[in-house]
Amino acid sequence: MLIVQKYGGSSVGNPERIKNVARRIIETKRAGNDVVVVVSAMGDTTDDLITLADQITDDPSEREMDMLLSTGEQISIALLAMAIQTMGEEAISFTGAQVGIMTDSIHSKAKIVDVKGSGKMRAELKKGKIVIVAGFQGIDKDFNITTLGRGGSDTTAVALAAALKADECEIFTDVDGVYTTDPRIVSEATKLDVIAYDEMLEMASLGAKVMHSRSIEMAKKYGVVIHVRSSFNKVKGTLIQEEDAQMENIVVRGVALNKDEAKITISRVPDRPGIAAKIFKMIAEGNVNIDMIIQNVSEKGFTDISFTVLKEELKKARKVLDRIAADVGASGVTYGDNMAKVSIVGVGMRSHTGIASAMFEALASKGINIEMISTSEIKVSCVIDSKDAEKAVKAIHDKFKLGGKKVMKEKISAAK
Ligand code: ADP
Ligand code: ASP
Ligand code: MG
Repeated sequence: MLIVQKYGGSSVGNPERIKNVARRIIETKRAGNDVVVVVSAMGDTTDDLITLADQITDDPSEREMDMLLSTGEQISIALLAMAIQTMGEEAISFTGAQVGIMTDSIHSKAKIVDVKGSGKMRAELKKGKIVIVAGFQGIDKDFNITTLGRGGSDTTAVALAAALKADECEIFTDVDGVYTTDPRIVSEATKLDVIAYDEMLEMASLGAKVMHSRSIEMAKKYGVVIHVRSSFNKVKGTLIQEEDAQMENIVVRGVALNKDEAKITISRVPDRPGIAAKIFKMIAEGNVNIDMIIQNVSEKGFTDISFTVLKEELKKARKVLDRIAADVGASGVTYGDNMAKVSIVGVGMRSHTGIASAMFEALASKGINIEMISTSEIKVSCVIDSKDAEKAVKAIHDKFKLGGKKVMKEKISAAK
């Protein structure tokens, strides 16, 4: 079998852990498999590199930022190859560029458009080597190094699994699988045996950082089944796969939280046809991604328009918004960077009713005010004050009784 394994930052966080990962890879190889490994940068390396750049400038060039951040993964691939070689197996490491991971040119959030080095990787596997590839990075048509967005090594792994038509794609991380919500926030969260691509895609896009959302888009497109599991034990994890008939029986699969939301309000906007079109066209031209939008009821020909962006987009947003407000004759713009978005996700919502109201009740029961709401066929999201974020997740998780199994398990072990 051809197996692609990806090890995240904490799984290769120090030399001991790198050796542990090396042993695990060798075990897979010696069981008769070809193994391609994708690794992230060690521990907090990527954050540390960002801090380093901050000490040089407030406004680094995006190209140089990608050049800098891609170095983290270059360290871990080399160390892992050395660890494997020391343990008696052959290994060879490659940067993204060396195995032809071609991307577009959008620095810091580049999309993979092609993997040109499948033949090269196959040739190394044929020689009996373990192939190790740097996650999170690629190269554009002009040979500039690009990165895929934070958490992007997952996407590298799925892209390689698709390109090589791998039999398995395993994502090794620091939790046992995908849980009903972040187990670091709700200790009663339950590990899921399976989750549908569409559910995982929503969860990831709405803040569950266990998987990079683009990796799920790609897995769905190419039919790659992903096994998310722990690098610290051998327990079976979670399968991310095509939806099956039974999945709709469970209404809410999980609760996601994103604490990095900011709210922008443009006040006293003239209430005329074409104004919203003009505002959002200018925002789009400024390359700012917006999420939820609310327009208040008009009063005497004026209205307030609020919308949310990711906190990291705020700097860019500020650059364009004051000008936009002046252009359309609004009275001003206010910014709030203390918002959180809490969401419930489940394909079962398509065929069940009363789900949104149960979520609102859960928030109301804790006195949490909802500032914005948005829904789709398989999710409901509420924007709230970030100080209430964890409380909200717990209340909603409780309301939909998502914590049952683990609580039971804990009770059993406590009774022993
Ligand atoms: P890696 O470095 O292995 O890529 P990440 O830190 O990117 O790991 O992702 C794993 C983390 O995702 C977990 O430690 C957990 O806190 C967080 N997480 C958020 N939501 C979930 C969820 N629903 N299930 C599991 N983990 C989650
Ligand atoms: N090292 C990168 C990050 O920290 C990519 C990854 O870990 O997937 O975001
Ligand atoms: Mg990750």
